[in-house]
Amino acid sequence: MGDMRIIKIKLAGQDAAIPDYGKLDLARDYALPLRDTLQRPLLDLRISVTDRCNLRCTYCMPREIFDASHVFLPRAELLTFEEIERIARLFAQLGVRKIRLTGGEPLLRRGIEQLIEKLARLVTSEGNPLEIALTTNGVLLGKKAQILKDSGLSRVTVSLDGLSQETFRLMSDTQVAVGIVLDSIEAAQAVGFAPVKVNMVVKRGVNEHEIVPMAGHFRHSGVVLRFIEFMDVGESNGWRMDEVIPVRDILDRIAQHYPLEAINPNYSGEVAKRWHYRDGAGEVGVIASVTQAFCHACSRARLSTDGKLYTCLFAGEGMDLRLPLRAGATDWMLTHRIADQWALRDDRYSELRHSDSERDRAKVEMSYIGG
Ligand code: SAM
Ligand code: SF4
Ligand code: SF4
Repeated sequence: MGDMRIIKIKLAGQDAAIPDYGKLDLARDYALPLRDTLQRPLLDLRISVTDRCNLRCTYCMPREIFDASHVFLPRAELLTFEEIERIARLFAQLGVRKIRLTGGEPLLRRGIEQLIEKLARLVTSEGNPLEIALTTNGVLLGKKAQILKDSGLSRVTVSLDGLSQETFRLMSDTQVAVGIVLDSIEAAQAVGFAPVKVNMVVKRGVNEHEIVPMAGHFRHSGVVLRFIEFMDVGESNGWRMDEVIPVRDILDRIAQHYPLEAINPNYSGEVAKRWHYRDGAGEVGVIASVTQAFCHACSRARLSTDGKLYTCLFAGEGMDLRLPLRAGATDWMLTHRIADQWALRDDRYSELRHSDSERDRAKVEMSYIGG
């Protein structure tokens, strides 16, 4: 392992010593892609760039909990762009091919385009450009679409749970006009994002009546609409299984109006199942996180706003990368920490959701860990 030395850091206020593994030599020390205990490769990284949001979607940041008294992370706790870039580069060297910026609402992070510029310059372990994607609620996207495109963003996904003002208000608990988000989607297309994806979370009794109108609206538009089952993320959204509409039902409802046909995934392990309209009006996707768990193909790691690495959306705890990073850890030490954590990974919450071991376990909030 080369020239081993010890570096001293402060860990929870205490002096600690950790080994420095010497010069980074990935080819010597790791077979890529990294595999976890279930042989799943590490290919994707989601980065939460802020835990704040300008909406209060009931299924993610309900206002009763995320109110004026809620304490968001202070600025000093957030990873800086330089720190994010450094960690992202290590992930890319370890085989990650795609980075998604998320949150909270990522467009609230000031200067996000500067971060995208940095990330867009990174390359994968095979020397190809990284794919940089962003998920946004679309409120600020209209104004920022061009600058995001110019900074090197590859893809954009907009979350929108209905077309009517009433549904938008109910789902996102906001006075913002839904037309702003619809205009943003068009603005993103106009500057050249293709295809723009739109994610719709479906909650029984709240926005299910919007399934067919949403499908109708985005047919022939070039937008790929994706329906997501309401998930039990975090501890605050009061999730109940009877509020989940299985994607099977969602597809049936659409197919009654617009016949559908299954199509092949874009790549192996793709989370959304793809369908296209038989009349050639485009494509829809469904993400059945609850009723058809896809843990067996989950290749995602998540980096929280304050630099903790989570290997599952439903995890209770993450592994701190910020502390060693700010204490002067070398690239190799950080790489080693990341790789070891992935090697130990055995998460498969969605497959075990109803088991005794998982039912009462505490989970982190999605706005903090990154959706
Ligand atoms: N604020 C941005 C947005 O809304 O697109 C990015 C962060 S948000 C946490 C990322 C995605 O997670 C959104 O598409 C949102 O609809 C989805 N999401 C949040 N809570 C969810 C839940 N309980 N079930 C299913 N999807 C959820
Ligand atoms: Fe904000 Fe996105 Fe969560 Fe809605 S889903 S509250 S827009 S972070
Ligand atoms: Fe991946 Fe965890 Fe979701 Fe399973 S539950 S698909 S392991 S994030």
